[in-house]
Amino acid sequence: MQPSRPSGEMDMRIANLVADSIVDGPGLRCTVFTQGCPHRCPGCHNPDTHTPDGGREVSVAELAEQLFANPLTSGLTLSGGEPFCQAEACAALASLAWERGLNVWVYTGYEYEALLERGDPHVMALLEHTHVLVDGPFVEGMKSYDALFRGSSNQRLIDVPQSLETGAVVLWQQPDPLAHFTRPES
Ligand code: SF4
Repeated sequence: MQPSRPSGEMDMRIANLVADSIVDGPGLRCTVFTQGCPHRCPGCHNPDTHTPDGGREVSVAELAEQLFANPLTSGLTLSGGEPFCQAEACAALASLAWERGLNVWVYTGYEYEALLERGDPHVMALLEHTHVLVDGPFVEGMKSYDALFRGSSNQRLIDVPQSLETGAVVLWQQPDPLAHFTRPES
């Protein structure tokens, strides 16, 4: 499913954009922190992103320009705030990134199953242009410094294309960086 309006006509309210992140997924990434989040997780690290009136409005076209400015960028991360509160604009940006061969990660305080149950076309368009969904609220009691790319261990790294194809949650597997090397014969 494609976003319903041309991306040039859409704005997104964002809290921040980090053009060279190495902590919101693998590789060098452009991370867009969307503004507005209804979850209010205790211990949230980004409380300034909660109010939907904060931050600033930026066109999706302008965000795409910044995303594609560095040829070394390998991925787009949509974080928050809550990207699914602006699913249509996020889907438009994710779709542009997808077309350019960038991998797309999305952080959400919702659980994957709850997003599917909504049956919302914009939510589905965003999921269909997401490679990895980091889902679920931040739970302070489950905070973990060992959980890869997550704040708390309840959150899952979901391989969305595989999950949509199979109809069951498939967790993302980190590629083995040594997979292309063969062991010398002993
Ligand atoms: S979902 Fe994320 S941004 Fe929203 S309150 Fe929870 S930790 Fe904070």
